[in-house]
Amino acid sequence: MKGLILSLSKGEAVSHGRSMHDLSNLHPATRAAQALGYIDGETKAIIPPIHAATTFERDADLTYPNGYSYSRNDAPTQALLEKVLADLEGAAAAMAFGSGMAATSNLFLSLPIGAHVVVPAVMYWGIRKWLLEMQTAERLAVDFFAPGETANIGRAIKPGKTKLVWIETPSNPTWDVTDIAAAAKLAHDAGARLAVDSTVATPVLTRPLALGADIVMHSATKYLNGHSDVLAGCLMTAKADEFWTAVRSVRTQLGGVLGPFEAWLLLRGIRTLFVRVRHVSASALALAERLKKHRNALAVLYPGLPDHPGHDVAKRQMQGGFGGMLSLRVKGGEAAAVATAARLRVFVRATSLGGPESLVEHRASVEGAGSPCPPDLLRLSIGLEDVGDLIGDLEQALDGV
Ligand SMILES: *Cc1c(COP(=O)(O)O)cnc(C)c1O
Repeated sequence: MKGLILSLSKGEAVSHGRSMHDLSNLHPATRAAQALGYIDGETKAIIPPIHAATTFERDADLTYPNGYSYSRNDAPTQALLEKVLADLEGAAAAMAFGSGMAATSNLFLSLPIGAHVVVPAVMYWGIRKWLLEMQTAERLAVDFFAPGETANIGRAIKPGKTKLVWIETPSNPTWDVTDIAAAAKLAHDAGARLAVDSTVATPVLTRPLALGADIVMHSATKYLNGHSDVLAGCLMTAKADEFWTAVRSVRTQLGGVLGPFEAWLLLRGIRTLFVRVRHVSASALALAERLKKHRNALAVLYPGLPDHPGHDVAKRQMQGGFGGMLSLRVKGGEAAAVATAARLRVFVRATSLGGPESLVEHRASVEGAGSPCPPDLLRLSIGLEDVGDLIGDLEQALDGV
């Protein structure tokens, strides 16, 4: 019996044997909940197997009949995951990686030596730090743009020279919003590609490729998996073009692939993505509105609040909610913020985001010297707990300031 998902890496329709469910015209939430209608053709199992094999039999005529040879190139469990990932973003193709950083560095390292790239001054700290090192090593020429106006991106672009514009929206840890369609136009007019770190928005709320972006990156460690137990990343592309082939070749050579067990867990997590993201978005908005009224809250940063500078753009490009991430600036400065986090009983003091459990993080002390993060800021990842319990926890912690 041949493998059942072997046709996936060849870009054909998902083949599940005779009992395949055709969900192609249905809502993305329906397709995600059923992993595109997967049914195992051999056993009729409704959940895919984990193919742990690293190597695949070659025919006597030297061909690889199922398209798989060695799992650093491609593997069946990961191929099913990549189909589901591509579908989430309406992409031509997707690639899974061992982490969000592996996906991101793989993308940038697919550019020529010394390529000019334009990236946000305020963004996920790990990527910013790595890009600064790539700049020092002269591997990349990096220009940073200030958050706020889209025109800031235009000023950083060098027409004909810039190869890639990278944006993150909403972006860590102030949740600034970038207009994806406007950024895509600026990038394309200058002959560059636009890549979007859409980890926080998720495919539930924003579809960057439909707005003109060329590539989307997710740290799948966060909402896509959603259970704080898998490290993974992915890239999705609007076009399976020459550049995408280069990105794939770099992945094979650097070897930043995702393992089959993680791929399987991620397929499991994605089944509940839509319901989780909608829930945390509703809770985060309720929480933001309540916290804003607290006498010890200096500011609440959340794109769902009308006074957030990115609210109008967010309303246009985020559908069905503003996500589960917000930040709270505490009156009294850094010491008051740290003491507030210490008083929390439901929120867990830990880094990361997008899991079932609500997390709080004093970001400035994580990012260290040179961080643009205000020292009185607590970053909150809203989880799946009862929203009344979360509000109560934060209010009692703020009361003590
Ligand atoms: C976590 C995160 C990353 C990095 O992903 P890892 O899976 O931790 O490597 C990149 N961008 C954003 C917005 C993130 O939250």
